[in-house]
Amino acid sequence: MLGWFAGHRALGTLASVSDLLGALREGDFGMRGRVRPGYDPLQDLIADVNLLSDELREGRRKRTETSRFLGKTLIALGDPVFVVDDEDILRLINPSARKLIGAERSAVIGRDLKPLGLAEVLAAPDNAVFNWRFHGGSGRWSIRRATWHSDGREHRLVMLRDLSLALGEEERRAWQRLIRVLSHELNNSLTPIGSLAGSLSTLLAARGVDETREELQLGLEVIERRAASLARFLSGYGKLARLPPLQLRAFRLDRVLARLAVLDQRLPVAVGGTEAVTICGDEDQLTQAFINLLRNAVEAALPVSGSVRVDWRMEGRHVRVVIEDRGIGLPSSDALFVPYFTTKPEGSGIGLSLTRMIVEAHGGTVDLSPMTDAPGAVATVRLPLGD
Ligand code: ADP
Repeated sequence: MLGWFAGHRALGTLASVSDLLGALREGDFGMRGRVRPGYDPLQDLIADVNLLSDELREGRRKRTETSRFLGKTLIALGDPVFVVDDEDILRLINPSARKLIGAERSAVIGRDLKPLGLAEVLAAPDNAVFNWRFHGGSGRWSIRRATWHSDGREHRLVMLRDLSLALGEEERRAWQRLIRVLSHELNNSLTPIGSLAGSLSTLLAARGVDETREELQLGLEVIERRAASLARFLSGYGKLARLPPLQLRAFRLDRVLARLAVLDQRLPVAVGGTEAVTICGDEDQLTQAFINLLRNAVEAALPVSGSVRVDWRMEGRHVRVVIEDRGIGLPSSDALFVPYFTTKPEGSGIGLSLTRMIVEAHGGTVDLSPMTDAPGAVATVRLPLGD
């Protein structure tokens, strides 16, 4: 009788365990088995299933929180974000991305990228920059990508960034800077010209020409100097603002550089490069760009009797030109390429910005950095050889 009772109870316990496991399978982690006091391995089993249920419930809570956090983060992100699986099916999209492609979330989730016209753009490599026209806006975009595995499948997270917005901000700052410099420069010249002219004419009226000759002479000289400085400034401004369109044709860059090396009478420039380099570009503008860099190098070397050297070498379909000077070194400023930044009393501050505009118009880059092993600076220009 006792045996039958024990067996019956064991069966009852196993049935509860089975119910509990069934609930867990269904995702119901709230059910609990009642554990009777006293030693009984089957009761331990119920206690273990209860523990398992607690852990699963906790795990689900954390997962829900994490995905809610991720969802909120994606919504808050101003940049468009797409999540795509390994078969190019769109799995997630944030509101900015939805706005960009002009589609309802429900209409695009679970759909193939190709008919959505996104396959090509979302396949671009990490950090790529490209121009693209979307339904909700066109412009210059950069792409960031990350991959991870979920449910045994690879997923891609693709984030786009509208570079034209960043450029717009940069452009606005450049204009502000330019207007500040323009008004500063105009004031610097026009105020003394105006007040000198006023006081000279008062003097003239009071004392006559003979008595005022010396002051007149001095005053006119100041007016002339200020006017010349204003003209210099405006001609620099004109050069920057009206860079003519590129006239591309093939020419020997090595010959241009060798010629420029002997152009500056103040200091001979050593020539390291020997390779012949034919490049397709605007010879006049590139010549101007290299004149600016060489002149800066010479002007940095002169005060310390330093030296300047120009070198070049091919790098695949590019040429790298390096102008090294053992000169006074770069000023500690991150504004070297900003128009009108100058540390020279007679400087215009447009040499480097003009150089950068010309080199970038050719699809190249220009960089100016301190020498690492000695005082001085290194200007590096990298240009594509072109067709
Ligand atoms: P500018 O020569 O008229 O001053 P740039 O735009 O050519 O105008 O140069 C801006 C400034 O950058 C210079 O005034 C100088 O302070 C600094 N600079 C440029 N090249 C060098 C160099 N090789 N060594 C030291 N300073 C340099």
